[in-house]
Amino acid sequence: MVSFQESDRFAEQRRQMIEQDLKGRDITDPRVLEVMGRLPREWFVKPEYAAQAYADYPLAIGLGQTISQPYIVALMTQCLRLKGDETVLEIGTGSGYQTAVLALLCKKVYTIERFSELSARAQAVLARLGIENVEFFVGDGSAGWPEEKMRFERILLTAAIPSVPKPLEKQLAEGGLLVAPVGESWTQTLTVYRKENGILHPASVCGCRFVKLIGQYGFSEP
Ligand code: SAH
Repeated sequence: MVSFQESDRFAEQRRQMIEQDLKGRDITDPRVLEVMGRLPREWFVKPEYAAQAYADYPLAIGLGQTISQPYIVALMTQCLRLKGDETVLEIGTGSGYQTAVLALLCKKVYTIERFSELSARAQAVLARLGIENVEFFVGDGSAGWPEEKMRFERILLTAAIPSVPKPLEKQLAEGGLLVAPVGESWTQTLTVYRKENGILHPASVCGCRFVKLIGQYGFSEP
């Protein structure tokens, strides 16, 4: 495993985030806690926000988008129940922080972002961290990964959707899990879907608020 020692300046803030905001709530997956306990989150935020990188709220990353609150990243990742051998599709690369967490917990991540500027920034941070098991794509993630035949054991959407996009439902492998904030543009329910016999079975996790997924099978332009 890679060690990111350069960032020890933030070790105490990172420890507090793990103890109070993650373990102090309902994050119990030891692998999620271990990875978030060593990833330098300050690398994924704008330099002027570095001091707030471990705070218990989302931060602006430009282009009207946000890096999700650490607890939400941990909760969504925990919901994916990763063991290490899965192929994961992520829609909404954003800062790349969630992408990095996933990459350290599974075999391979495929991630789609609609803004090339955000994708490029995320690619640079992951390269700096030495994380190599990620493929980036710029485009509309609601239409799925461009190679139609691909199947993923896990799919994670980090932007809100009115309902599960059909192409994503199709690209979820049998027995796989899809995690997404589903609902209206201002408030959603974090939902876990399991695919059984080709049908998605939903389970609600909690209320949440994400930026909108803008695309063919998402919301139309704001
Ligand atoms: N996990 C990210 C969250 C970023 S916010 C992080 O913690 O940094 C959600 C992201 O989804 C934004 O970057 C937004 O631009 C992106 N997005 C919105 N609609 C999209 C679409 N149709 N396809 C791909 N990305 C999309």
